[in-house]
Amino acid sequence: MTLETELYDVLGVPSTATGDDIKKAYRKKARNLHPDKNPNDPDAIRNFQELGAAYEILNDPNTREVYDTYGMQGLAGPGGPQDGPDAGDLFAQFFGGVPGGFSFEFGGPGRPFRKRNKGEDSVIPYDVSLEDLYNGKTVKVNMEKEVECGVCKGSGAKGSAKAKKCVTCDGKGWKHVYSQVSTVRIATTRGSCNDCHGAGEILREKDRCKKCKGEKVVQEKTRQEVHVERGMRDGQRIVLAGAGDQEPGLPPGDVIFVLKTQRHESFERSGSDLLATVSITLSEAILGFDRILINHLDGRGVRVASPQGKVITSGTTIILRNEGMPTYKNPDMRGNLYIVLDVEMPGEDWMGSVDHKALAALLPPKKADIEPLPEIVDKVAFEEGTLAEVRARSFPAGSGFFDQAFPSQYGEGDENDWEDEEGDEDEDDGGPPECQPQ
Ligand SMILES: [Zn+2]
Ligand SMILES: [Zn+2]
Repeated sequence: MTLETELYDVLGVPSTATGDDIKKAYRKKARNLHPDKNPNDPDAIRNFQELGAAYEILNDPNTREVYDTYGMQGLAGPGGPQDGPDAGDLFAQFFGGVPGGFSFEFGGPGRPFRKRNKGEDSVIPYDVSLEDLYNGKTVKVNMEKEVECGVCKGSGAKGSAKAKKCVTCDGKGWKHVYSQVSTVRIATTRGSCNDCHGAGEILREKDRCKKCKGEKVVQEKTRQEVHVERGMRDGQRIVLAGAGDQEPGLPPGDVIFVLKTQRHESFERSGSDLLATVSITLSEAILGFDRILINHLDGRGVRVASPQGKVITSGTTIILRNEGMPTYKNPDMRGNLYIVLDVEMPGEDWMGSVDHKALAALLPPKKADIEPLPEIVDKVAFEEGTLAEVRARSFPAGSGFFDQAFPSQYGEGDENDWEDEEGDEDEDDGGPPECQPQ
């Protein structure tokens, strides 16, 4: 039973949506709502953040269940679920167990009542390219944050007007909310009072500060600098301490950017190592090469010569030492770059343009039939197939079961999140991402 649907509404899906529906809806909305795409909308960052938060909760089956059962109160509201076994874990999960983030005090008969001791943190997913993480980058971000109103000094009141105790909640700011969890269970949660919005007191319309209209805070435009440092990893958090929203009487919250690495068309990353696939021609495979194999993430050409007399088979891996990712906080130390050499066979066009007899005389001879000849020899048609189909049948875990190269680089448990987006441009046959031949 779903009590609240607000988070589903943010994502634009029904509360019966599957995990996949939620992922898809999120991806689509995230693209449209991205602040870069809505530079003129003052609410862009907020909308984007809200979307991210809704997704974070609904994408995790555990938090989704808590939300479906108790609503937001169950996840973060005062009191939390009365009998939720993992309430403590959930809080820790949501607020990262950051010391100083929240404090607990007892407000009610033996139940912890959560009280903020600083403004709310703003967590913003931030897309970065592998180039950004390799070279480092400083970005200026325009943001809007809430600051204490300067006119009323955060009281929300005009002049010396005083707020009156809210009669609905008798000044407590909360009231009990009863909700039926199942046919035999009624859950009691504490809901924020609707009339005073949890403040416990109400200011009459005419007593409200003109500037903030009694809100105690006003929106202020700020310009923040985000330093993406060399070697940072996917999921790393960049904390701008004190750059977040302010609530009267409390220090402002933090703005936290969470790095989300976009897939790269040429490179994959595993820790400080990089992996790329490069196509070489048949001629290069047997006669050798000395050329720029790949353009690196900083634009440098990387030239490699194969050893004299070396014949390269498809799939041969070479290691280019110290050409991997820089190490975070120690960028001169770098990992390795692994290059898988893929031998590109000549095309049919080329084959049509050469003398086959002359070519056959140069190439090693064709194989003869097996000796001794088996008693029965059946003639079977030549038909091309794809291994991905076989894998899809044999392994219910997914068609890409063996094809996940380094899923951890795209965020844990999230490896499918951005795959569809890639699929829009790729002719994806379930294989590993192709690299651009140089
Ligand atoms: Zn004011
Ligand atoms: Zn009230």
